[in-house]
Amino acid sequence: QVPIHGKPGTVQERTFIAVKPDGVQRGLVSEVISRFERRGYKLVGLKLLVPPTDLVKQHYADLSSKPFFNGLVDYMTNGKAPVVGMVWEGPDVIKQGRAMVGATNPLSANPGTIRGDFCLSVGRNIVHGSDSAESAQTEIGLWFGGKGEVVDWSFGNEEWVISAN
Ligand code: GDP
Ligand code: MG
Repeated sequence: QVPIHGKPGTVQERTFIAVKPDGVQRGLVSEVISRFERRGYKLVGLKLLVPPTDLVKQHYADLSSKPFFNGLVDYMTNGKAPVVGMVWEGPDVIKQGRAMVGATNPLSANPGTIRGDFCLSVGRNIVHGSDSAESAQTEIGLWFGGKGEVVDWSFGNEEWVISAN
């Protein structure tokens, strides 16, 4: 049994990735899932929801003093489109996930990253990824804290994706 937040530094490291409402509205859910899936990462948590305001305020607590905070919370919670929250598992997935997501400002994001390929504006940057082991632990707990919401399972072909050395 793995703790819901995974085991950072192991093949059972876990991160929280979300497609934000603009990404859902633009039909990019499958694109985001596909990139993590094809890379070899394992989907261990998945939900679609209009998140409660409290959840988003906690999720973005470090930004609460920013001038864009209220707009950010509204955009995430107003229900014009839901959020797709995910937990992904695999080697170095926290750092690799951030690299796959790309820079916060899409105009600084490299082509080949999700933000660098699909968006133009920091306020509509379509995807979220935990930025550290600490934030992954906190965010997985916030979004997937209910019993059984994160699932331990094994790939049948794991030996063809992850080698022991
Ligand atoms: P992230 O970890 O790359 O998502 O970036 P941050 O943690 O710094 O910010 C969280 C989210 O707040 C970003 O993904 C944006 O959606 C939003 N955000 C950050 N900076 C700005 C800004 O300057 N303007 C606006 N409108 N939104 C911002
Ligand atoms: Mg962040």
